[in-house]
Amino acid sequence: MKLPTRVLVVLTTMALVSGCSSTSTVPEAENPLGSQEGFENLSIDNLEYPLTGAAAFASVNQKLLDSPDLSVNVEFVIGPNVSEAEVALEKVLVSKAVRIFSEWYLPESFTVVMFSEKDGEWADQKLDEYGGSYFSTISKEIENWVSNSGTCGFAFATKTKEGAPIYFGCTDSFREREWINRQTPPHEYFHLVQYQYGEYPQWLLEGSAAFFGAAVGYYDISPDGLRSKEFFRGTSGNFDPENEGPDYNRFVNHLRTLTESDSLKMFGDLETFDWQNGDRLSHYALGGLATEVLVGVWGIDKYMEMVVGTKEDSWTSSFQSTYGLTPDEFYAKLVPYLKAAAKEMDLW
Ligand SMILES: [Zn+2]
Repeated sequence: MKLPTRVLVVLTTMALVSGCSSTSTVPEAENPLGSQEGFENLSIDNLEYPLTGAAAFASVNQKLLDSPDLSVNVEFVIGPNVSEAEVALEKVLVSKAVRIFSEWYLPESFTVVMFSEKDGEWADQKLDEYGGSYFSTISKEIENWVSNSGTCGFAFATKTKEGAPIYFGCTDSFREREWINRQTPPHEYFHLVQYQYGEYPQWLLEGSAAFFGAAVGYYDISPDGLRSKEFFRGTSGNFDPENEGPDYNRFVNHLRTLTESDSLKMFGDLETFDWQNGDRLSHYALGGLATEVLVGVWGIDKYMEMVVGTKEDSWTSSFQSTYGLTPDEFYAKLVPYLKAAAKEMDLW
């Protein structure tokens, strides 16, 4: 399926409520996969597809079960045209993310601003009121999304004028949130986690948010991790490293014949590209697949050890001391997994 590139989101009908505040409570996980049984033979030199993705999902969702059920004060600021059902779903999804990452990040409070495609002016005012940086106005971005894709599928995490964590997200007022947009709340929340530590290249910044968003948002419908590949595929439509013009199949075709030097080139470019150019190299999809390999082989705790290490060290040093591989060695080892994923992604 074709998706507008950029991030995430949601959808539905009617309702209002304005500026309500709420305390999140974390529900019990419905679908525990249990132990890591069956994943024993995975290693960076034996990346079975799709088993590695399933192991990554299991690691994240086991963390949900193993983490304490804490309450965090979350202020939900709700636009006039966002439905109550959307707000309820947002709370469930973001609560899971809070619980999973509580060992590494537990804000005293944070703010979630939800709006629909009809609430542009309202959302512009909220951005102005709370503060936060964004590359455009929200109402202009809504216009772009609606005219390009007929949806309102973006969200972004930032900081308020006081430096407090906040994220903004658009949900369509005309339909229920599709499964694919269930990755949005944990995706944005993971950005808030990242922002506590160091600096990251695009593939780590967006790829890990895309992976963790999917691992939390899709686990109940796809514990095997396959839906995340469908999502990654949907974000890859703008893949165009050489500026050749639109070709929705370029990403999959490139991956199918990938060599080690191709992989080093793609990820190497994503080390230096900024956010908007990152889209040309499919930072969500490539970084998402790379993150699921890291988490599938070594688990979420090790991954977060690398993230925490960026507070004092460069990401490259932290990566190497955590995993015992240089980033380039890692990019080369990803090739068989990326090729296997491309074979399946060709179906979508
Ligand atoms: Zn993001």
